[in-house]
Amino acid sequence: MMKREIYNEEHELFRASARRFVEERVAPFHAQWEKDGQVSREVWREAGEGGFLCCSVPEEYGGVGGDFRFGAVFTEELARMGTSGPSFHLHSEIVAPYLIHYGTEEQKRKWLPKMVSGEVIAAVAMTEPGAGSDLQNIRTTAIADGDDYVINGQKVFISNGQLADLVVLACKTDPSAGGKGVSLVLVEGDREGFTRGRNLEKAGYKAQDTSELFFNDVRVPKSNLLGVEGRGFKQLMQQLAQERLVIAVRSATSIEAALEWTTTYTKERKAFGQSIADFQNTRFKLAEIKAKAVMMRAFVDRCIADHVKGELDAVTAAIAKMESTEILWQVLDSCVQLHGGYGYMWEYPICRAWADNRMSRIAGGTTEVMKEIISRDLLKD
Ligand SMILES: Cc1cc2nc3c(=O)[nH]c(=O)nc-3n(C[C@H](O)[C@H](O)[C@H](O)COP(=O)(O)OP(=O)(O)OC[C@H]3O[C@@H](n4cnc5c(N)ncnc54)[C@H](O)[C@@H]3O)c2cc1C
Repeated sequence: MMKREIYNEEHELFRASARRFVEERVAPFHAQWEKDGQVSREVWREAGEGGFLCCSVPEEYGGVGGDFRFGAVFTEELARMGTSGPSFHLHSEIVAPYLIHYGTEEQKRKWLPKMVSGEVIAAVAMTEPGAGSDLQNIRTTAIADGDDYVINGQKVFISNGQLADLVVLACKTDPSAGGKGVSLVLVEGDREGFTRGRNLEKAGYKAQDTSELFFNDVRVPKSNLLGVEGRGFKQLMQQLAQERLVIAVRSATSIEAALEWTTTYTKERKAFGQSIADFQNTRFKLAEIKAKAVMMRAFVDRCIADHVKGELDAVTAAIAKMESTEILWQVLDSCVQLHGGYGYMWEYPICRAWADNRMSRIAGGTTEVMKEIISRDLLKD
């Protein structure tokens, strides 16, 4: 691969300990977590103790105030091992920034230190049975009543849904105002009337709990409002660039991992008296994948560097999300093919990566929604 220039010595030291953590504390337990449908609470606390969670949280709230690259390194190390279970990136790179950017002093002091330590696991709940891409049409409401909001509604496909102690909930505080009525409200996991539905059975990401959530007259104080009432949609959009970049970081690394697993496998596996890697078709496919991996890495690294400087725009983040997940999907399909029947067996990492990453083209905004964002910008006057 080309020499990477976006990380300094500190990031590489962090990578060495992140790699050890994933190899010793995540990978050995992953198969059991896949059977359980969720990871252990213990691994969250261990990740917190190791300093791997919420690296960008400022020191006054218990973090180390690192830049985005520390989280990117941890995401890369998890992807390299194909360990898709712990949704650390969602907690650290998606939910924590909502609190950092929009939280009151009291909210930050209450939640961020515990998110850094892994005592509190966070989720973000936008999607509903009737509204995913079309977020402005969500129906969950938080209606003001004295000093409280009273929340009613339902969410679906929520990552960390079973384990979450804190949910950033997208809901309508003014149901008559369309997108301008959307607000973000913090809901604690033990609030009366808040219940978790099924841990949904998925095609992949089997060690990750993905759930329905139900809100039945849930009362939270108005001080649980995150940011400004009616600005929730805008707040969500502002943070989506980072969410999409994280998906691109994971996807670029998954392409490299798939190439490595498949190169090793095709060199070892024999057919017709030679290794699979000796067939011209295999060599050409591997060469194509290598070219895709190198190009994707160069682009995603550039996006990371721009993001650290505060210069990554929403359209470029959408391009990174769309292209990395679409190319990853093509690569994984080719790699499964090169593994033959073994590529379809769960015990092989290529099979799990293939099943896991079908979702990457859907979650975090579908490929079609990314095309909308890109083309709207292209065609604007
Ligand atoms: C494993 C997993 C984890 C997830 N985790 C979370 C989470 O933690 N929190 C959360 O809030 N959500 C989460 N989601 C939900 C995810 O973000 C949504 O599934 C996604 O945004 C798509 O919404 P939808 O499923 O309602 O599909 P729909 O919006 O119903 O889309 C169906 C199809 O229509 C297409 N479509 C929709 N609108 C347009 C358009 N304007 N133009 C062209 N085509 C269009 C879509 O691209 C798609 O192909 C998760 C999903 C999965 C699968």
